[in-house]
Amino acid sequence: MNFIDRYLPPSRFNSVLESLPKQFKLSEIGKSVLNQPIYGIKIGSGKTKILMWSQMHGNESTTTKVIYDLILSLSDSDRSISVEGLTLYIIPQLNPDGAEAYTRLNANAVDLNRDALDLSQPESKVLRKVFEDFKPDFCFNLHGQRTIFSAGKKGKSATVSFLAPAADAESSVTSARKEAMQVIAAMNNQLQQSIPGQIGRFDDTFNHNCVGDYFSCEGVPTILFEAGHYSNDYNRNITRKFVLDALECAFDVIQNKIHLGYSVSEYLKIPENHQDYVDILCKNVTIKEGTKVFYNQEMAVQFIEELEGDKIKFQPSFHSFGDRIELLAHKTIDFEGSSRPLLFHFAQGENVDNEMFLGFY
Ligand SMILES: [Zn+2]
Repeated sequence: MNFIDRYLPPSRFNSVLESLPKQFKLSEIGKSVLNQPIYGIKIGSGKTKILMWSQMHGNESTTTKVIYDLILSLSDSDRSISVEGLTLYIIPQLNPDGAEAYTRLNANAVDLNRDALDLSQPESKVLRKVFEDFKPDFCFNLHGQRTIFSAGKKGKSATVSFLAPAADAESSVTSARKEAMQVIAAMNNQLQQSIPGQIGRFDDTFNHNCVGDYFSCEGVPTILFEAGHYSNDYNRNITRKFVLDALECAFDVIQNKIHLGYSVSEYLKIPENHQDYVDILCKNVTIKEGTKVFYNQEMAVQFIEELEGDKIKFQPSFHSFGDRIELLAHKTIDFEGSSRPLLFHFAQGENVDNEMFLGFY
């Protein structure tokens, strides 16, 4: 069991929970809209408490895989991750219905990360109750981000991104927020050694209905983790290692209060995420649009993730075309000299014929 696929429904992940070593205390903490159980796992008995949850967006499975890797590491005394001095409370797959259907939203089509104030959904209430009962010293909000993000304008692909969410509309650096920034600065410092230039920072516009902003506002240092794209790693099995490294670093600096030696400016130096990437850039294609024909065009293609059976299919879809496309791409295909008929007539978001790509990627 290693969860290589991007699709990770609860029926697959819950087998991990059935065989947890006894140092993990498992409890069912609520039900989803479709009556699926939501689980909490507690480990450690240290003074500093960290609450973390994954897959509140059901199609963001990478950080649940990271939780699996973390459980393995903590089960094996030969591995390096230590939680001495910490108590972890982990909620994997806060949105099990979304994880099953591979949707961002829950079964009532609500974005759980826009429901922190409203608490209109059972999953949001479960998280809030754990937050109130467990009284964490830190919250880790574990997500996955799309392939479109660069770390800084026209930078490298943002493989991991962070945010210390704002606690007010002025984005003040409150003491809780400062501590989140310091932990992020420490993680960034470490990750730069393995993925230089591939760490991004999300924009901190305040939205009280976002869970991270809400917890930050309640005075708890909260960190958004985003597992992003690493070259050719669409199933995110390389990225997951870097996110696990980041968690290990966070545990270490929090246990030893090392993060307090980092500054807000070190956090602010992490480049902001920009939406500068598409998945594929096709060069020298001919585009037919109505009666007009455009030669030697560039065409941007973006993958749409579709659940097909029990696998995620990365369906190429049309993004845009032009003489020159001002976007970076994870892959470039040059069709110059190709004998293939290259006459397209696409609407944005329309599927691009897979046949065209056969042999090219
Ligand atoms: Zn998300």
